[in-house]
Amino acid sequence: MNRQNSNLLPQCLICNQTPVQGIGGGILLCKQFLCDACQDKMVSCSIDEPFYLQACERLKTLWHSSTGVVKSTGQRTGSR
Ligand SMILES: [Zn+2]
Repeated sequence: MNRQNSNLLPQCLICNQTPVQGIGGGILLCKQFLCDACQDKMVSCSIDEPFYLQACERLKTLWHSSTGVVKSTGQRTGSR
């Protein structure tokens, strides 16, 4: 009953797979998960391969979505 493993079984942001080891089978990037297989692929494939480009696009989107939130609304409420 206490088995709530959903948080421990993340999906890779590139291949959408969940490693058998769960979160131990990859790393977390900006709250997103990247599996070992894709990490290996990214470091071993050349930069003009479709996989690399795809991975870069995913990471770019991820980066913008995580940093874009901080910049918006320059309102300072509270204090004084
Ligand atoms: Zn993957």
